[in-house]
Amino acid sequence: MRTPALYLSHGAPPLADDPTWTRQLADWSTHLPHPTAILIVSAHWEAAPLTIGATHTTPLVYDFWGFPQHYYDVTYTPPGAPALATEIGRLLDGRVHQDPERGLDHGAYVPLVEMYPDADIPTLQISMPTLDPQELFDLGRKLAPLRDQGVLIIGSGFTTHNLREIDPHAGDNAPAWSKEFDEWTDLAVTTRDIDALIDFQRKAPAAHIAHPRTEHYAPLFVALGASDDKPLRQRAVVDGYWYGLAKRSFQFD
Ligand code: ZN
Repeated sequence: MRTPALYLSHGAPPLADDPTWTRQLADWSTHLPHPTAILIVSAHWEAAPLTIGATHTTPLVYDFWGFPQHYYDVTYTPPGAPALATEIGRLLDGRVHQDPERGLDHGAYVPLVEMYPDADIPTLQISMPTLDPQELFDLGRKLAPLRDQGVLIIGSGFTTHNLREIDPHAGDNAPAWSKEFDEWTDLAVTTRDIDALIDFQRKAPAAHIAHPRTEHYAPLFVALGASDDKPLRQRAVVDGYWYGLAKRSFQFD
């Protein structure tokens, strides 16, 4: 059986203080087959050509500013995944760069701390070489065979992401733009309307408010590409809102 591919909303470091969200992520991982390795693409690393991060245990990248000190004291030290890195180079015909000192950024480690707290699964982060949805979808297609080797492919972003509109008092409520875009995404993913998703900037309601820049939606296309044309199941595993932003997350079986 193929290991699922995921798209998840990763949150900021304070996700760790949210008992609902942390429980949702932890529960999710217990229902997934135990992966042989994790390959993660995060909104917070754009570099072309596609760049392979550290393949040995390397300090985290604390790529956020102005948070309380304890968020900078978090550590997460999974084994590196050199064999997976080699395999990716092969699947991409060698058109990759290496950045051996680049550790996991917060888009990668914040959710993984909740999902795989033992940090015992070889983990590799690669960059997003573009924000173009079609190119990212094609990249996911090329990486899909890794699922047959037990690799858990994760695209880590945020289903709606506009930091100017963030509302700490929103609770479980969401502003209309966030809700409309979120519900549109859910329908398009679960009906596998790939053409509409790839053209989301024109097709989706409130797209330019939901994503003034599209780096947090972009990892969805890698996960979509890595999933099958007729996946067994594609469903939202996590939903709801955080400060008005949609934390919807998908599993593609
Ligand atoms: Zn982020």
